[in-house]
Amino acid sequence: MLIRILVFLLLLLVVRALIARLFGTGRKAPRKRAWGGSTRARATVRGRMVKCPQCGIYVATDLAVRIRRKNVNLYFCSEECRDKFLQRSRG
Ligand SMILES: [Zn+2]
Repeated sequence: MLIRILVFLLLLLVVRALIARLFGTGRKAPRKRAWGGSTRARATVRGRMVKCPQCGIYVATDLAVRIRRKNVNLYFCSEECRDKFLQRSRG
């Protein structure tokens, strides 16, 4: 019975030590937060949004894969979609 209580107390100590470590209640200096002083706006994607003719997803022209067909620019969300589209239009 006494051993049980001792084991229980030991477990309690271990758990407390773990919790102290997790929540940093030790005497370590507080770490600086990375998100402290960022006032700059996020980089925005330029260009207008166009619809990928293959899958219908909207993508910015700056990020799109562009091809020119019959004097018309086509914008695809990915090279994969462009290839599929070209295969389809060929076959
Ligand atoms: Zn697509």
